[in-house]
Amino acid sequence: MSATSAVPILMYHAVGPDPAPATLGLSVTPEAFAAQMEVVAERGFTPLTTAALATAWRTGAPLPARPLLVTFDDGYEGVHRYALPVLAKHSFASTVFVSTGWLPGRHTTGGALDTMLDWGQVRELADAGTEIGGHSHTHPQLDQLDAARLRFETLRCREIVGEELGAAPVSFAYPYGYSSRRVRRTVREAGFTQALAVGNALARRRQGPYALERVTVRRSTGIGEFTRLVEGRAVARNFAADRAMTKGYAIARRARGAVRGHWI
Ligand SMILES: [Zn+2]
Repeated sequence: MSATSAVPILMYHAVGPDPAPATLGLSVTPEAFAAQMEVVAERGFTPLTTAALATAWRTGAPLPARPLLVTFDDGYEGVHRYALPVLAKHSFASTVFVSTGWLPGRHTTGGALDTMLDWGQVRELADAGTEIGGHSHTHPQLDQLDAARLRFETLRCREIVGEELGAAPVSFAYPYGYSSRRVRRTVREAGFTQALAVGNALARRRQGPYALERVTVRRSTGIGEFTRLVEGRAVARNFAADRAMTKGYAIARRARGAVRGHWI
């Protein structure tokens, strides 16, 4: 495995038979998730945590054959109920990025789109080998915030995960995938050592630790398309579909990935 090779980082959100309307399009059914993990296993991929990939890319340490990341954003309850048993069956590592204010309990701010994990379930995921990363406190578009609010969103999230799990998180995922040079710097200053964007491209070391790209798995992703996605053969088409979905909004945004980070 060369350090210049591309790594599929799969981005999931809710997993469930009947998610809330707001999360439906980006959700997968439990059956689809199980079938997708079969493909990952059959094709000889080795799922890693986000921290493990970034550490290997930072230090030059060897990676296993065909590394791949399974990531879940926001912290939906179905990740524990439906995805965890499948991941455990295959002994697959994964990363769940939680928006701490969306989770029920003493830190809640409300605003969640669906039923979220409680902290007991987050701890069970962590105990099963899932990395718990940060995804801000209230899930804003971080690049639209002033400096003070941006610091709060990253620091508060890191502090809460640290308090609840006894170890501060090291990986971050930008809500909506949006970042800017200022956002990336603030995430780094908050103590996160790597962060994931959404690029609908495979991740490569040259993207830098704060702009690693992910591919979206959604409810409409069939098993054939999923297979092409992990093999890096459906990325352009997938990206075209996303551009159509976010047309207008995307145009106003600075091109993501224009600013590259450094592995230090
Ligand atoms: Zn999110």
